[in-house]
Amino acid sequence: MTLMTADEYVASLRSVRKRVFVLGEEVGDYVDHPLIRPSLNACAETYAVAQEPAYEALATARSSVTGERVNRFTHLHQDPGDLVAKVKLLRLLGQRTGCCFQRCVGMDALNAVDSVTFELDRDLGTGYHARFREYLRHVQARDLVVDGAMTDPKGNRRLAPGEQADPDLFLRMTERRADGMVVRGAKVHQTGAVNAHEILIMPTQSLAEADAAYAVACAVPADAPGLLCVVGRQPSDSRKLEGVDAGNARFGGHEAVIILDDVFVPWERVFLCGEVRHAGLLVERFAGYHRQSYGGCKVGVGDVLIGAAQALAEYQGTEKASHIRDKIIEMVHLNETLFACGIACSAQGTATASGTYLVDLLLANVCKLNVTRFPYEIARLAQDIAGGLLVTLPSERDFQHPAVGGYLEKYLRGVARYSTEQRCRMLRLVENLTIGPGAVGYLTESLHGAGSPQAQRIMLGRLADIGSKVRLAERLAGYGETSGSL
Ligand SMILES: Cc1cc2nc3c(=O)[nH]c(=O)nc-3n(C[C@H](O)[C@H](O)[C@H](O)COP(=O)(O)OP(=O)(O)OC[C@H]3O[C@@H](n4cnc5c(N)ncnc54)[C@H](O)[C@@H]3O)c2cc1C
Repeated sequence: MTLMTADEYVASLRSVRKRVFVLGEEVGDYVDHPLIRPSLNACAETYAVAQEPAYEALATARSSVTGERVNRFTHLHQDPGDLVAKVKLLRLLGQRTGCCFQRCVGMDALNAVDSVTFELDRDLGTGYHARFREYLRHVQARDLVVDGAMTDPKGNRRLAPGEQADPDLFLRMTERRADGMVVRGAKVHQTGAVNAHEILIMPTQSLAEADAAYAVACAVPADAPGLLCVVGRQPSDSRKLEGVDAGNARFGGHEAVIILDDVFVPWERVFLCGEVRHAGLLVERFAGYHRQSYGGCKVGVGDVLIGAAQALAEYQGTEKASHIRDKIIEMVHLNETLFACGIACSAQGTATASGTYLVDLLLANVCKLNVTRFPYEIARLAQDIAGGLLVTLPSERDFQHPAVGGYLEKYLRGVARYSTEQRCRMLRLVENLTIGPGAVGYLTESLHGAGSPQAQRIMLGRLADIGSKVRLAERLAGYGETSGSL
């Protein structure tokens, strides 16, 4: 079975006996937990879309490793067309779920580890790449969800891993055995961790030789002994428990803190172990892919938000006003600019030594830097169009109350041909995406996910080759290498 259906995916998770903590309690049946289930539904869409004939070319691909048709989320990009298809697929899924569907972090990690292990073996004569390809076969054959686990807690940001007051603030190898290694530490902000079968661990930053114990990349099953998963809170998440006013009727995201309390990893699942120079390369490659991803998924969610703002304008009778039309067009412009960046860095992708294609890193960083800003402006414009009821609307339960429900129905109606319920549901959706749990994925993840804005600026400074631009200017100004007369 190389392609699971959505139902098979949900069923498969029931046998992953991971330890999950939610709101201070360990939950056995995390699959049906009301705080988790919307995110599981969103992740399941990555399976559902792969079953639809109309999306076969977008959502699946012929594996370069096994020759089988696999879900694109487990595929190694074989050409720029694969990179472009990825961005389009992520946009489609953002449109369908209106939230983070969690599976691209793993795809980005798989692609990054593939090329880096190849180059590591070539440079140092190690044997990681064949191991990794074997692991990838396992993932592709079972159509697994892989959590890409990069971010360490990091403690005092001024200090290197080995200088921290507590050496475990960055994940590290604590023991080397004949059959494998033991790792200890934590990974924070892990998108969709509860919905994953596998955790693919990578270092969080470039490392110096003194910190070789922190240069670790490896894969562990999500239910490995010693692994604990603590789900983070999101704004208004208790509405999912109440069953009302959620905004997004079916979908949501989640992040978790993963704790690895001396987890054993057999050598066949270890892909980096002490080679500090390649730790930095792995971080850079993963970040590049993930910065590309946001040019797809956030654009899809942006499409939903633009649609919701337009719908509200129509429900409230403002849609023909010139400033409202301008604002909708501005939202479209910003959103499509992000898509253009995602497509551009993909179309300009090039082959790495392993044969796996990598995005144009400069353009991927431009993409992500725009993503740190434009969704906030799109959200601001949507809130402008929505009006204040966005944050003052009574509960669905008040609408059902015999004493006040009728009044609310009467007084909160906009244009007569639309129902009050229609208007209120749309307001809740905009609330969800711009202030509620959806804003975690659409806004804060846009800011910090795949690295905070400064990380992209540092990469732009490194990749922009500003010296060559100076030489261009000097040449035209008439001095420098090919100087002419003034
Ligand atoms: C919703 C969401 C989902 C995410 N999903 C994942 C995931 O699935 N997997 C994963 O591995 N990670 C994930 N991340 C983590 C993401 O990559 C990090 O949030 C990001 O790298 C920033 O790290 P941080 O949160 O520790 O913030 P910090 O690194 O503390 O950054 C906070 C601020 O401090 C600045 N700063 C940090 N260090 C320094 C320094 N040394 N000198 C000067 N300034 C500094 C930063 O530029 C930033 O402005 C996710 C994050 C979010 C918000």
